[in-house]
Amino acid sequence: MRRLVRACYTGASGYSYAKKAGDVAREHGFDRVALLASNENPRPPSPAAIEAATAALRETNRYPDERASALVEALRRYHGDYRFVAGAGMDGVIETVIRTIVEPGETVAASTPTFSFYGIAAAAHGAQVVNVPRRDDFSVDPAAFVEASRGAKLAFLCTPNNPTGNSVPLEDVETILEEMDGLLFLDNAYVDFADIDYRPLMRRYENLVIGRTMSKIFALAGLRVGYAFVPTWLEPFYQRAATPFALNAVSAAAAAGALADTDQVRGTLDHVREWRRRFLEEVPFRVYSSDANFVMIDVEPHTGDEVTERLAAEGVIVRSCTSFPGLGNHYIRVCIGEDWENIRFLEAITKI
Ligand SMILES: *Cc1c(COP(=O)(O)O)cnc(C)c1O
Repeated sequence: MRRLVRACYTGASGYSYAKKAGDVAREHGFDRVALLASNENPRPPSPAAIEAATAALRETNRYPDERASALVEALRRYHGDYRFVAGAGMDGVIETVIRTIVEPGETVAASTPTFSFYGIAAAAHGAQVVNVPRRDDFSVDPAAFVEASRGAKLAFLCTPNNPTGNSVPLEDVETILEEMDGLLFLDNAYVDFADIDYRPLMRRYENLVIGRTMSKIFALAGLRVGYAFVPTWLEPFYQRAATPFALNAVSAAAAAGALADTDQVRGTLDHVREWRRRFLEEVPFRVYSSDANFVMIDVEPHTGDEVTERLAAEGVIVRSCTSFPGLGNHYIRVCIGEDWENIRFLEAITKI
């Protein structure tokens, strides 16, 4: 048979997934494994989310509301009067925004090193991807970003950034919005863990989309719910470009339930802040300060892959950062887990 699969999927390496807990447990003889690779909330979802999802399950003979109106209402209660679109994870929203804005062959820019899916999704759509390197300390140079993304219809900026953990100051985002000629997708997957609020920018700029996810602080990674603040002009076109019924009814209901449970969020935030501080103090390598629920650690003279393997042998799964383009091979990313997971990690990394 002739080759049918597109070159962008046969050549490139694609999205990297974390090791599986079951494999590590079996290989190294652990009953339970510390899961610190995927920046999830280690706690179960809010009971309000589970209850809403269970009720929605009873009506799944019907297609969901294509606009997820009940979730959008819950988002307006939570955030205020903004325009929202929702999708199957922020990843789904990113893909749809690309499809709405970018013609194949056009340029998409991203500030790197960063989350790999922007480049993967843009390339799969036939776009040219321009990576705009951050400075050596991983801060963003706004003028360089504007310059390099000139001509791009869409540019991605992640803040707090995955995997480096730092945020872009509000005034730098404003400079970029003032000067760039395309649409800026500001990825705020981790903003709930930071002391910075980019939402007011939506009132002043027509060229801004802010992406959010229910997978991190809201503890719903398994249900795949993401959403975005969008300018009014974009919404109808986004809806046209979206996969029909992309967000399922159970996930949408759970997300609305979770948004109503602010106690759960506050509890997670206190826990993350406390452990972030301890990781900074107690890890015997250079730990980058972070506004997210993870930290990046420079494990030189070891490589990220070596340390990830050695930690797996101690029953701890972390993420080696070698697959992040533009980053050296000597970093790992570790998220905040439950107390026992964090303690096991600290003990294991101290032995290295
Ligand atoms: C986790 C993550 C997302 C995607 O989250 P979904 O689970 O698809 O909602 C988006 N951006 C960044 C930077 C992330 O780390």
